[in-house]
Amino acid sequence: MAHTLLDHTHDPARRSWVASANGHADFPLQNLPIGVVTPPGETVPRGGVAIGDYVLDLAAAQRAGLFHGDAASAAELAAQPRLNAFLAAGPEARQSLRLALHALFVEGAPARAAVEPLLHPARDCRLHLPADIGDYTDFYAGIHHAMNVGKQFRPDQPLLPNYKYVPIGYHGRSSSIRPSGTPVRRPQGQRKGPNDAEPSFGPSRRLDYELELGIWIGPGNELGTPIPIGEAGRHVAGFCLLNDWSARDLQAWEYQPLGPFLAKNFATSISPWIVLPEALAPFRVPQPARPEGDPAPLPYLLDTDDQETGALDIELEVLLMTPCLAAAGLAPHRLSIGSARHLYWTVAQLVAHHASNGCNLRPGDLLGTGTISAPTPDGFGSLLEISQGGKTPVTLATGNTRTFLEDGDEVIIRARASRDGAASIGFGEVRGVVLPA
Ligand code: MN
Repeated sequence: MAHTLLDHTHDPARRSWVASANGHADFPLQNLPIGVVTPPGETVPRGGVAIGDYVLDLAAAQRAGLFHGDAASAAELAAQPRLNAFLAAGPEARQSLRLALHALFVEGAPARAAVEPLLHPARDCRLHLPADIGDYTDFYAGIHHAMNVGKQFRPDQPLLPNYKYVPIGYHGRSSSIRPSGTPVRRPQGQRKGPNDAEPSFGPSRRLDYELELGIWIGPGNELGTPIPIGEAGRHVAGFCLLNDWSARDLQAWEYQPLGPFLAKNFATSISPWIVLPEALAPFRVPQPARPEGDPAPLPYLLDTDDQETGALDIELEVLLMTPCLAAAGLAPHRLSIGSARHLYWTVAQLVAHHASNGCNLRPGDLLGTGTISAPTPDGFGSLLEISQGGKTPVTLATGNTRTFLEDGDEVIIRARASRDGAASIGFGEVRGVVLPA
C-alpha cells in the first residue's frame, strides 16, 4: 500500500479550538473523518466532518468560501449527500481537504469565527450511509477466526488447503447494509440441527455478530484491468467498523457448496464515519511474519512496501448490552478486545486479489476484512467462537447467560488506534439492537 508520509496534521502536540476535540477518544484534530449527516433543523443530507463532540456542515462551509484551490474542489465533492465522487477523487483530493480542515480547526485558526457557527452537536445530527454502495464483498482474512470456525465445522481439517494462498471471500449483498443504530430484525430461515431428521423454517436460534473492518474503495479499475499490488493503496479511500450479522444455524445448513447466502445478507451494519487512510498513517505497521512453514504469497500479492507498512495497529472492542444489564443499571459486557494485526492478509492484498481477474471495483464499493479474532479467547470476534458453538455460555454480571444473541440484545463495536508519539484516534462505533423475528 502506498505510503502516506507523516506531516503536521499528525502532530500530537497540535490542539484544536474545538475544546472537546482535545483528547477525544475518537475524533481529535488528527482524525477528521468524513461522513454524511443531516444537521438539526435540516432535511437534506450533506457531507460532514467529525471534530470532538461536533460535526462540521461541509456544504455550509463550502458555500461560506472557507476552502480554496484544490481543497475547494475536494470539499465540493465531500459536501454531497453521497460521497462516491469524493472517494473516486483519490488520495490527492483527500489530502488537500485534510490539510484545509486541519488549518480551519487548529488552535489559533483565523477562520474560527466563520467556522464555529457551522458546527452542530454530533448528538443532534442524523448520520447516514456515507456512499451508495454498489457492491459489497466480505473476505475471510482473520486466520484465527477461520481456524476456530473450521474446527467446529470440520474438526479433521480446520483450514482448507487454499487458505494460505487465496484471500478467501464471497460476494455479499449491499442492499441490506445500514448505518450504526439501525435495528436488526432476527431472520427466519431454514435450519437443520445435527439431530433433526428434516430441516424446518423459522426464526434463527443462533444469531451472531462478526467483528470486522470495512474498507471503502476509491478510484477503482476498469473491467479487465487488474490493480497491481503496488497500486492497491491508491484505491483504498477509507475505513469503517463493520458488523456482519450472521445466523449460524442457517449458515451451517446452507453454506455448502457455494458459501454464505441468506445466513448473512439480511443485515450488515457499519460505522458511519469514513476514517481516511491519511489519518491512519501513524498506525501502519509491518505485516507480521508468517509462521514457519507457511507459503510466501504468490508474486501478484507480494509487495515489499506493503509487507513493511501494510498492517494496521487498531484495537477492536465488542460490547454486549442486554435488557437484563440495562434493567439492573449495569454497563455493557465486554465480549472481546483484540487487534487488526491478526489479519493474515493486508488490505492491499485483498484489493489486488479482488481485481486480479479483471473484476472492476468501483468508488463506494465496500470490502469487509472477515471476522478479526485474536489467538486467545479474550479476543475472539464472534459468539460462535466465544461460546464454542453454543457449548460454553458467556455469564453476564446479572448472572444471565448468552450463547447467541437474544431479542433486545445490542452489539456495540468500537475501535481505537494508538501508539507512542501519536494522538490516538477512533472510529466512533457501530451498534445495532436485535428485534424479534
Ligand atoms: Mn464476515
